[in-house]
Amino acid sequence: MPTENRMEKIVALAKRRGFIFQSSEIYGGLNGFWDYGPLGVELKRNVRQTWWADMITEHDELFTPPGAPSSFDMVGVETSIIMHPQVWKNSGHFDLFVDKMIDCKACKSRFRFDHAAIAIAVLEGQPATWVACETFERDDATGMGLSSSKSKSLEQSILQYNKAHGTDQPGSIHTTTLSVCWNELKERSASNPKLIPKCPKCAGELTEPRDFNLMFKTTLGALGTDSDAAYLRPETAQGMFVNFKNVCDSSRVKIPFGVAQIGKSFRNEITPRNFTFRSREFEQMEMEFFCHPSQSLQWYQYWRDRRFQWYIRHGISQQNLILREHAKDELSHYSVGTADVEYAFPFLDAGEYGELEGIAHRGDFDLRSHSEGKLCKENGQLVVEKGPDGKPKYQGSGKDLSYFDDQSRERFVPHVIEPAAGCDRATLAFLCEAYHEDQAPDEKGEMQTRLVLRLHPKLAPVKVAVFPLIKKDGMPEKAAEIYRSFKQAGIAVTYDQQAAIGRRYRRMDEIGTPFCVTVDSDTMSGDTVTVRDRDSLKQDRVSVKELVNHIQSRLRG
Ligand code: ATP
Repeated sequence: MPTENRMEKIVALAKRRGFIFQSSEIYGGLNGFWDYGPLGVELKRNVRQTWWADMITEHDELFTPPGAPSSFDMVGVETSIIMHPQVWKNSGHFDLFVDKMIDCKACKSRFRFDHAAIAIAVLEGQPATWVACETFERDDATGMGLSSSKSKSLEQSILQYNKAHGTDQPGSIHTTTLSVCWNELKERSASNPKLIPKCPKCAGELTEPRDFNLMFKTTLGALGTDSDAAYLRPETAQGMFVNFKNVCDSSRVKIPFGVAQIGKSFRNEITPRNFTFRSREFEQMEMEFFCHPSQSLQWYQYWRDRRFQWYIRHGISQQNLILREHAKDELSHYSVGTADVEYAFPFLDAGEYGELEGIAHRGDFDLRSHSEGKLCKENGQLVVEKGPDGKPKYQGSGKDLSYFDDQSRERFVPHVIEPAAGCDRATLAFLCEAYHEDQAPDEKGEMQTRLVLRLHPKLAPVKVAVFPLIKKDGMPEKAAEIYRSFKQAGIAVTYDQQAAIGRRYRRMDEIGTPFCVTVDSDTMSGDTVTVRDRDSLKQDRVSVKELVNHIQSRLRG
């Protein structure tokens, strides 16, 4: 199936069966915001629960898992979305969490500067048109439309330009280079008006590139003065850093230990796109793992590999997933290593991958920043960044965020390994991976195309469906009894007596229900039912008495 077509089908199924809707759809939708429908909310909740179980509830702190340097503790927190504004100054988000953008003065369209390939294109001798138009998102109903191959080749040419001009700086590759190109272009267009960059939509005049902070600003209280400004968090991680001391003091955790949180984050993305992949409101599943500096590289490797395996264990095939270690010049200034788990989403070109999760070795950057004030790198060392008056640019909390190991009698600032995953991106990846069209016999035995979501049983929104074969002879009553026994066992179940049995199976296949139970005449005489398997299509006869246990054990896998 062509990949574009595949993505369109997935988006259509998501809407038709109530997984994902556009936010405020009756008003035309709101770009970058999505709602989860009755099935989507269950799927996403299962993704969340599976992650939380792996991190917290099923974690055995007495046991050293294979590959881990020692056993460890894991706890959870839930912190507020709006935090003290100083948090974002010291975390670096206030100054650095920016994208450059340019606006059209005529039609008011807004473009991300790093998508504005014109500067590069013109300097390479191509005509002064917006060759990169196709890299801009289209505001269509699905939010899709990115030509990723164009983006990639733009990125390549930027990297080459960086190398040739020696302008590469970690963390600002695109904007540094594009700024150089843009300025050169402006100079050249003074003598050649053809080179003046114009809006790709209306050929109107453009503004100069400007910094645009991705944090959503809001105001606290009724006065609304500048000092009441606050921000919706762009990541959940800071909630764990600022509570490091609280967690140490209030629980019996000893280093190494992890603090996990799942929650909403907000980024005012300039170009939300590709369905839920890049949204303005999204959910993150993040964990900060605090360890001794001397063991941090081992822990980095451990979490990197373990997080990669988590996706595979829950149904993503290895051929669609990569673990991409960042090159040195891609790393943030404080990071010793970062790897991304990336998935071959169907909206990307063949051979391309989109980030599901980043696993970063953050060193002691965060704890020290929140203690001493925002840090920057000078001569290879992290030091407190100074303002023009020579004082720290931003005040830290002044709190001692070091750790005292009472066994070794050593005091140190722990290093942090951070696996940061997106819950919506993971949900989308599981949905994309599960989508299959195959050939299966209908009730007359004729082969028909079947749409089936091969979701991992743990993730499937509905685990079992119960059908009476016909609506008489006591079958509906018996099926209702069985349905209730699943409810009582806490297994997500649905009941359906409408339409031919084949149609009912198809409806369940489309939403990924692993098992369908049918009550037929043999049930009434012999107290057995058929259990049909979504993937193999095999039908087994199981006694009604054993049914709940049977399904429970097959769900456990
Ligand atoms: P990207 O490079 O795609 O913008 P990022 O590297 O900025 O992502 P992180 O800050 O590492 O992302 O956030 C951790 C995870 O949160 C990402 O791997 C992704 O799964 C999720 N995430 C980040 N931004 C968004 C977004 N705008 N929409 C949906 N999920 C997101």
